Amino acid sequence: MAVIIDGKAVAASIRVEIRKEAERIKADRGEELGLAVVLVGDNPASHVYVRLKEKACQEAGIVSYKHEPHKDIAMDDLLGLIDRLNADPKVNGILVQLPLPSHLDESRVLDRIHPDKDVDGFHPMNVGLLSQKLAKLMPCTPAGCVELLDRYQIPIEGAHCVVVGRSNIVGKPLAMMLLHRNATVTVCHSRTKDLAAVTSQADILLAAIGKPKMITANMVKEGAVVIDVGTNKVDNQIVGDVDFAGVSGKASHITPVPGGVGPMTIAMLLENTLTAYKIQRGLLV
Ligand code: NAP
Repeated sequence: MAVIIDGKAVAASIRVEIRKEAERIKADRGEELGLAVVLVGDNPASHVYVRLKEKACQEAGIVSYKHEPHKDIAMDDLLGLIDRLNADPKVNGILVQLPLPSHLDESRVLDRIHPDKDVDGFHPMNVGLLSQKLAKLMPCTPAGCVELLDRYQIPIEGAHCVVVGRSNIVGKPLAMMLLHRNATVTVCHSRTKDLAAVTSQADILLAAIGKPKMITANMVKEGAVVIDVGTNKVDNQIVGDVDFAGVSGKASHITPVPGGVGPMTIAMLLENTLTAYKIQRGLLV
């Protein structure tokens, strides 16, 4: 049986580490870390995610400022709110919960966030910096995957990492981060021919597809490390992109869903808020 990579436990210890730093900053500099969360409208899933993020902030000693504009807010008014948050020194990070109502242009809203407050790492400036290996704020989910590998001391350098999925929020930045860590990276997608032939070469297989249990044991090399980013709702339960029951008999390490990558995404959001504070105060070299 594979070692189960416990993302929940790792995320909890990251929250403790951030809390210690937040307390030190408060004692030394009299400042609190602040994260603004903008939640437009009444999407129930978004409300659940925002509550989880607020709770995580509280545990990590970060002040969260929630803004809940009406679902009919005009684009200019929402951009005005982002401008005010950009200018507010108490706000170190700005997170706009997606999806936005359809009359709002998501990319214009995200691009308005100052790159130094872009704790989601989606701003084009930060995407460009990531490709040049210069980014300080990186997308949370892929950063969480890499952090899990590090915390379990799984060597990335020289490993053949196969990433299934090439989205802007997970697959592409994940591939880039692994490349910067000297992995040999293969990226697969919906047009990849003979996917199983590629995935079964992976030392580390990372699935970010959005298809429940699509990665089955026959697609995985004996002893591979398997990171499952997928969160798919099936019969009111959350399941990953990996067939956990089958693959855990073959992998050396595997993340469960839930309790694997999911909690790490929020932990990395907190970490990015701390990093953003340091960028803004000139504390990062
Ligand atoms: P996405 O934007 O829909 O991208 C899915 C990717 O999978 C695409 O690149 C797509 O290829 C590829 N794909 C789809 N079907 C495939 C197939 N049959 N064979 C090979 N590749 C295939 O999704 P995403 O935003 O990256 O999210 C992926 C999953 O991760 C979802 O389940 C999402 O809910 C989950 N997620 C979890 C977290 C977390 O915190 N745990 C965070 C973000 C996302 P093409 O590019 O060719 O279409």
